[in-house]
Amino acid sequence: MERLLDTPAFKALCDRFPRQRVVVSIREAVADVRALIETGSVPDDIEDPARYAEDVARRMDLEGVPSLRPVINATGVVLHTNLGRAPLADAAREAMVAVAAGYSNLEFNLEEGTRGSRYDHCVALLTELTGAEDALVVNNNAAALVLAVNTLSRNSDVLVSRGELVEIGGGFRIPEILVQAGATLREVGSTNRTRLKDYQEAAAVATPGMILKVHQSNFRMTGFVEEATLEELAALARDLQVPLVHDLGSGLMVEASEFGLPVEPRPQDSLRAGADIVAVSGDKLLGGPQAGILLGDASLVRDMRGNPLCRALRVDKGTLAALEATLRLYRDPEKAVTRIPTLRMLAVSADDLRVRSGKLAEALEPFRLAVEVSENSSVVGGGTFPGVELPGWALRIVSRDLVPKELARRLRTGEPPVVGRVEDEALVLDLRTVHPDHDAALADALRAALDRG
Ligand SMILES: *Cc1c(COP(=O)(O)O)cnc(C)c1O
Repeated sequence: MERLLDTPAFKALCDRFPRQRVVVSIREAVADVRALIETGSVPDDIEDPARYAEDVARRMDLEGVPSLRPVINATGVVLHTNLGRAPLADAAREAMVAVAAGYSNLEFNLEEGTRGSRYDHCVALLTELTGAEDALVVNNNAAALVLAVNTLSRNSDVLVSRGELVEIGGGFRIPEILVQAGATLREVGSTNRTRLKDYQEAAAVATPGMILKVHQSNFRMTGFVEEATLEELAALARDLQVPLVHDLGSGLMVEASEFGLPVEPRPQDSLRAGADIVAVSGDKLLGGPQAGILLGDASLVRDMRGNPLCRALRVDKGTLAALEATLRLYRDPEKAVTRIPTLRMLAVSADDLRVRSGKLAEALEPFRLAVEVSENSSVVGGGTFPGVELPGWALRIVSRDLVPKELARRLRTGEPPVVGRVEDEALVLDLRTVHPDHDAALADALRAALDRG
């Protein structure tokens, strides 16, 4: 060990990396050689320090790769939960960086020089954009729902349609959440049909604390189906003197029809229809950072803000900065569609995708491949718009030397990692979810994956 550490190659390594880690890597490298010897094969260069230096340098480089890092999403799933959901707008990223590196007025009133509240920051924009009386931002929409139920309906019954006892993903199930939040679930109606009368009957034999309407988000029911409208539920909630809470999920703030998508209620629509509180996600179609946003009646929001649980679910300054900057873009809806990445990706034209895919295909000409630009559909993802397809074009790559799974693996394990889809014996790369500035990096990654080994 001492002999190795004294060589120039290892001195250079100790300048670049922590000495402790170099020592650990030498031990591992030596252990590997011992294991080789035990199998009977003695490497020729067993005495050569350069052999160990090379090995240790490789180990150190691997150690230096961050666990969490950027990837290129070529799956065509716009809100890919496993790939971090909504990418942020430039303005949001800049705002986040600006407050991250130094101090901020997170909980400080600059005018008065006194203590302020972090919960003040996005309120004016949220109320302006949605018509809500007040707003509260917490860690995510799951947290928002827990806080709403715990504050407004603890130790009482929450009425929910049997058709809305959904699992959102990642183990988030409405019935379990209600129990955890300290409420009792009162199931209403049947899976496919729940009418106003069912709510009335359930309320008559319950101790209602809240009517909860949950957006079905990630699945669709068709056929013999019926549900009570928000207006009907709002009237019933008023009679019962309990709040109507609408868990909306997606947070789409603009009309879905702008993107050729089916009608999707926006938070402003839900409030106008009579919901007392609406809960939405910050990083689904709103296109901001991970957050849960509660909107609605001022006195209910005040109660939720005052719940000690709120402290455990609170948001970070970076989140608030990014959310505020994202919301600001919505003041000019035309700008929002071009500057908020999730909306921009929904709006990308099929022609644009065909042209970009064609250019990428040209870059692959020198390789032993069959590449075609073929019709393809992307999906919105993130538990929104199930079954809805966004028509476009994608690159279909078949290598003469590598099976599609192997090519996909090489792309994933390259730098930057690229994630595509393997479909019908081909690797499919959908540029809808790739920022146009990254097309060149994607071409390089493909070339590197094909060159390797
Ligand atoms: C996505 C979703 C949630 C969970 O939101 P997160 O921000 O991921 O916690 C809750 N309810 C509905 C209806 C959803 O669609």
